[in-house]
Amino acid sequence: MTVETADVVVAGAGHNALIAAAYLARAGKSVLVVDARPIPGGGVATEEYLPGFFMDSCSTGHTIIQANPVIKDDSLGLVKDHGLAYVDPDPVARVAFPDGEQIGMHLDPQATYDEFARFSSRDADRYVEFLADWERAKVAFGRANNTPIGWGPSLDQLLDELPNGGTWRRRRALSAWDVIRHEFTEEHVQAFLFWEACQTFGSVDLPGSGVMPYSIMGGRQKRSWTIPLGGSGRLTDALVSVIEGHGGRIVCGTKVSQLLLDGGRCVGVESTDGRQFVGTEAVLSTIHVKHLVDMAPAEAWGEDFTYGVETYDIGIPLFAAFLVMNEVPTFRGLRPEDTAVSSGLALWPQDAIEQVRAIRDRKPVTGSAWTLVATPSLVDPSRAPEGKHTVKILVPCSHVPPYGAASWDDAKEQHADAIVDYVRTAIPNIDDSTVEARIVKSPLDIERGNPHMINGCAHGGDKGVPFSGPLRPVPGWASHAMPIPGLYQTGGTTHPGGSITGSPGRNAAMVMMRDLGLDFPG
Ligand SMILES: Cc1cc2nc3c(=O)[nH]c(=O)nc-3n(C[C@H](O)[C@H](O)[C@H](O)COP(=O)(O)OP(=O)(O)OC[C@H]3O[C@@H](n4cnc5c(N)ncnc54)[C@H](O)[C@@H]3O)c2cc1C
Repeated sequence: MTVETADVVVAGAGHNALIAAAYLARAGKSVLVVDARPIPGGGVATEEYLPGFFMDSCSTGHTIIQANPVIKDDSLGLVKDHGLAYVDPDPVARVAFPDGEQIGMHLDPQATYDEFARFSSRDADRYVEFLADWERAKVAFGRANNTPIGWGPSLDQLLDELPNGGTWRRRRALSAWDVIRHEFTEEHVQAFLFWEACQTFGSVDLPGSGVMPYSIMGGRQKRSWTIPLGGSGRLTDALVSVIEGHGGRIVCGTKVSQLLLDGGRCVGVESTDGRQFVGTEAVLSTIHVKHLVDMAPAEAWGEDFTYGVETYDIGIPLFAAFLVMNEVPTFRGLRPEDTAVSSGLALWPQDAIEQVRAIRDRKPVTGSAWTLVATPSLVDPSRAPEGKHTVKILVPCSHVPPYGAASWDDAKEQHADAIVDYVRTAIPNIDDSTVEARIVKSPLDIERGNPHMINGCAHGGDKGVPFSGPLRPVPGWASHAMPIPGLYQTGGTTHPGGSITGSPGRNAAMVMMRDLGLDFPG
């Protein structure tokens, strides 16, 4: 049997785990990261799907992580020393509605104002106040997201320091849809904000999603849908460079199947091929908590923890179609330069909510509640040969295959055809003459590609009231230390959740470094 040893073993090489590993490696710990995928990064990967075409197999937009000190202060030197660079695309977004109307969003707030004002000057004025209100509150939310649970004041305490703290506490508990329809009255403006609020696949009709419209619109109005030059995977490359530069190792193609326990303490992990990876000081996991609990005996976790994991909501699955195009996907009646990197189609919010509810009820859903058409090659020529484009279409969908299909494997191409037909109603030049290749990923494919994305749910689990803050992933265990001594958890199942935020990774590093007697540098 092969046994490899390090101070800290990290199971899973998503960006959060890599951020934590990078902090630990820089602090002098030997780290050994083990991942099931052939390449590190999890949902932060850029792959050459066809020669010369570099596709982000999962994430493209890195807006939320811009507020994390890892990027804001470049605390790991990723930008300064390891080649990471970001671009803020302008226009920020373009969205078409069911009646054929469209709204464009721009980095110039006045230009966004003018777009909203075409539909309602009252709502355009309201948008200015909406952004100003978020500017005053965002520090509290940013601080709470980038601090481990239980360290410092709670989010509610931070909000109470604001003049309208009570309003923000109520907003937190409302749904995104409640907030949007309270602030805005015109249906296109409402649908635009709703489309933006859906971007992280949260349950925008459920309590607990109320801050989403503020945080997403605030972030995008300032920084757009920020994307890494060269592809999402450049963040991973930079993190790997820090880890390896400090002597850390990353072992890919190695799926962890169980935790190694010694005297009730977690001392390492074992992979499906029988190799053991021993962490003499600690083990950090980014394995989905639903899988993690099966990797040690039930009594090691305790009933409270097991109940919390059983009732944890894994979230909303997604479906993706990757296109290679020889033209810019261009909206009806507009010019190619009006297309935003983050474009798409919105339903009216009530219709979208109906579909999202059906998905949560595990019903087969064939509609497109909201549709993202992402074209990063518009601002980053390194993604495709000259004149060509990489386009990613994303929709929420059920992990249950459509009626009549035994598996998503049988239904995915037909489903992609239907989605492309729908997208063509707003972007007519996506057709056989412009699409040179297509790769389709159903929820099943997404899970096969990353065991952390169960049923194709890519955002770490729902972030509603039962699963956020001190309740994530399980009440009593929100601060990264797990019930088994020596074992820590990071990734999208921990506070503050999924997407490219880096916060679970940095927060986990803070907790582990304190427990290991190390100073956290910032
Ligand atoms: C198509 C698509 C588009 C997306 N677009 C965006 C976007 O534009 N912006 C955004 O913010 N987010 C986006 N996301 C979501 C985003 O990718 C994830 O929320 C994010 O990657 C989660 O990061 P993480 O660090 O929690 O873990 P992950 O990125 O999920 O990484 C977890 C890692 O752990 C490994 N692992 C799990 N179990 C085991 C095991 N048993 N043994 C070994 N290794 C294991 C996995 O192989 C994986 O590498 C998208 C996702 C998809 C699928």
